Amino acid sequence: MLKAVLFDMDGVLFDSMKNHAEAWYQTMCEHHGFVCDRTLFYLYEGSTGAQTIDALFCEQRGRHATEYEIETIYREKSTCFTQLGPAEAMSGAYDVLRKVGAMHLTPVLVTGSGQASLIDKLSREYPGVFTSDHIVSAKDCPIGQGKPHPYPYLMGLQKAGGIAPSEAIVVENAPMGVQAGHAAGIFTIGVNTGPLDPQVLTDAGADLVLGSMEELAQRFETVVATHFAL
Ligand code: MG
Repeated sequence: MLKAVLFDMDGVLFDSMKNHAEAWYQTMCEHHGFVCDRTLFYLYEGSTGAQTIDALFCEQRGRHATEYEIETIYREKSTCFTQLGPAEAMSGAYDVLRKVGAMHLTPVLVTGSGQASLIDKLSREYPGVFTSDHIVSAKDCPIGQGKPHPYPYLMGLQKAGGIAPSEAIVVENAPMGVQAGHAAGIFTIGVNTGPLDPQVLTDAGADLVLGSMEELAQRFETVVATHFAL
């Protein structure tokens, strides 16, 4: 029986990925001379800032980034992201959350974000939906066990009341997030809210790929009825 829906945050509940990709692009490419397009940062979504910086150093400079480089570049990216302004709620996300509530399912947030203002941001757009004991964030994850590792979603199952993987749905937009949900053994819906080819979400292990949160809202009851015994 379905009991909980585990939501990623960036690119699922908030239309924030274009600001993240822009901040990464301005920092890494325009300021630090790396060469790539913005789409690359959608593929890196879910990995930590340090991993993203180091991956580009390894690929284009043939060496690891130093701790100093990671720290200063990441600070720069964060400042740039803040300057781009607050991200809006993802269109259709509130409709999905309302349906989750109407079906008496527990919504859980599972994000790699470490933003201190997470709960304020959530309660501004989605008041009363996520309680603080139903949130898994960067601070809950040991280093090296963030997405695509299944740990964050396994922790989400615990926070949902110690339920089984077969009693939950994951909603993710990023390939690494989909991998994490799939590796945790949970039915994973890939919602392709960015510029990637939807095939990357299928290849990452998504059980179902949809084009938007609006589409998920429209099809939510049918998806649940098709894949879960109520
Ligand atoms: Mg995401």
